[in-house]
Amino acid sequence: MAGAHPTVTDGSPDTSRRVSFWLDDLVVRGLDDLRPRAALTSNARFDVCLIGGGLTALWTAYSLAKRDPTLRIAVLEREFAGFGASGRNGGWCSALFPQSATSIEREHGFDQAQAMRRAMIDTVDEVGRVTALEQIDCDYVKGGTVLFARNRPQRELAAAEVDEARRFGVDALEYWEERAVGSRFGATGLDGTAPAAVYDPDCARVQPAKLVRGLARVVESLGVSVFERTEVVGWSAGRVQFRALDGSGAEGTVSSSHVIVATEGYGAKLPRVRRRILPLYSLMIATEPLPDEVWSEIGIEHGQTFSDYRHLLVYGQRTADNRFAFGGRGASYHWGSAMNPAYERVDSVFTHLHTALRDLFPAVGDARVTHRWGGPLGVARDWNATASYNPKTGVGFAGAYVGDGLSTTNLAGRTMADLVQGVESDLTGLPWVNHRSPLWEPEPLRFLGANLGVLGMQFADAEERATGRPSLVARAIGRLTGH
Ligand SMILES: Cc1cc2nc3c(=O)[nH]c(=O)nc-3n(C[C@H](O)[C@H](O)[C@H](O)COP(=O)(O)OP(=O)(O)OC[C@H]3O[C@@H](n4cnc5c(N)ncnc54)[C@H](O)[C@@H]3O)c2cc1C
Repeated sequence: MAGAHPTVTDGSPDTSRRVSFWLDDLVVRGLDDLRPRAALTSNARFDVCLIGGGLTALWTAYSLAKRDPTLRIAVLEREFAGFGASGRNGGWCSALFPQSATSIEREHGFDQAQAMRRAMIDTVDEVGRVTALEQIDCDYVKGGTVLFARNRPQRELAAAEVDEARRFGVDALEYWEERAVGSRFGATGLDGTAPAAVYDPDCARVQPAKLVRGLARVVESLGVSVFERTEVVGWSAGRVQFRALDGSGAEGTVSSSHVIVATEGYGAKLPRVRRRILPLYSLMIATEPLPDEVWSEIGIEHGQTFSDYRHLLVYGQRTADNRFAFGGRGASYHWGSAMNPAYERVDSVFTHLHTALRDLFPAVGDARVTHRWGGPLGVARDWNATASYNPKTGVGFAGAYVGDGLSTTNLAGRTMADLVQGVESDLTGLPWVNHRSPLWEPEPLRFLGANLGVLGMQFADAEERATGRPSLVARAIGRLTGH
């Protein structure tokens, strides 16, 4: 089983800085000291035991505790709540889902694909509703997302996305012509022409650490027991084995009717789920705050997120304090699904991100990059996310959101609450529920496949820049990645 993790928080002042700008910002502003809550140090009995202290576990705990305050619910987190992807992400609370609607339609039919789109769009508003209700101040502003289409192949992808959305009739995507984009945004094209763009109103900008840390406090106030520095080392129906990482050396067992695994990318280190999930690192940078006149030139408003239609994904937002937070893929997959804090800091990827940001918005100029960080996404073999539960064993699993988990975790939490309580609902009828992805291949195939995917995306972007035509490589990879 996994040994002690090298980044277990030691209470040193730079713990937050190591993890993400978002967590660091909470500490710097005196909003949170990230001091770990108490570990679990003796055997215990709960009704529901959640493994992991990210948004999946916390939204599940929230839904269950709200519906039935008598339930005894525990969250067991190895580090501190929000340590994982939930405290590090790009802050896009979007209606995106790893599998495209067309891909869901191929497997489950039109109505199911449409229902999934509807559920995701509703979820963006649901996160806004609950955070307002519970007074979680997480800078939630629903300003939509602007997806720039910067050359001919990107414009074709943009038009195809709008067509797909029209066919399903749920997403309210708008195609913005070059002139409209040029008059509002200081974004560049790649072929000497001004970019066009797709505008998707169903996306909110959040400060992710404020969301996950605030949610942890709310569930505690509802009576949920949140144990930190408590590592789960195994589970089976009705039982979870743990060890405390607080120096006490305590170990024990939680007896629980329901056991929900919510460890996302970190599941790659847990023997029972390691072939189900592949950890793929996404990295981010944040700039110093930019003056208002620079933002006027750039055109991105508060609450707005942005990206473009390149294949090797990038994503960004304007933070509440006027920085760019900008991230992307490109980090390699490591042999045997190895995980290490060093993989969250890859200089070549940080340099690529900085260059890509300045290339998209030249007005960024020499603005200083103040923070660099990264974290693991969880990827299933068929790029399908799932919320699954076996009523016979009481064991459930939710995750594999790739880079679309911020809002999807909320849908997972509400769905998991229905599954645990045996309630049949619109949510439990959605096509991702109880989806079983194939297992990842053993090495060396996994290593080859995952890294060829990353390289293939880089190649596809270079090919499109050079030829001005849609990449054939990208099309081939697209079918393997849920599109
Ligand atoms: C850099 C980055 C940018 C992203 N940007 C976006 C975005 O803009 N929008 C979006 O929708 N999604 C984004 N994502 C994805 C999104 O953040 C995740 O899908 C989501 O946060 C997953 O939440 P989770 O609770 O399932 O997992 P996590 O937040 O990763 O939580 C898992 C927790 O399990 C704990 N754990 C692991 N092993 C054990 C164990 N043995 N015992 C106890 N605890 C354990 C970990 O410490 C961790 O806290 C991004 C992810 C990254 C890394």
